Amino acid sequence: MIEITAEVRAAIDRAAGDMELAGDEYIEPADGLIHCKKCHGSRQTVVPRFGGSGYFMPRCLCPCQQKAQAERKIMEQQRERMERIKRRKAQGL
Ligand SMILES: [Zn+2]
Repeated sequence: MIEITAEVRAAIDRAAGDMELAGDEYIEPADGLIHCKKCHGSRQTVVPRFGGSGYFMPRCLCPCQQKAQAERKIMEQQRERMERIKRRKAQGL
């Protein structure tokens, strides 16, 4: 995340018009970026464009989304393990 100068802020505000917000998102007036209503973490970041003219404002995962994703992964792994065990039992091993 780069420092939000007046120039960066102007680019953010220009891009904000094209951004579609989900129901649990809002634009934080302090930095003009998309934030999460649940954890207030940032869901958007600022990256200077390659070549140095302008900026990208890509989406990113806020802390609670990252946590949810990690939990989903763990659940998925557990489910796969259970499936494997079930398959082995079915094969009589
Ligand atoms: Zn969040």
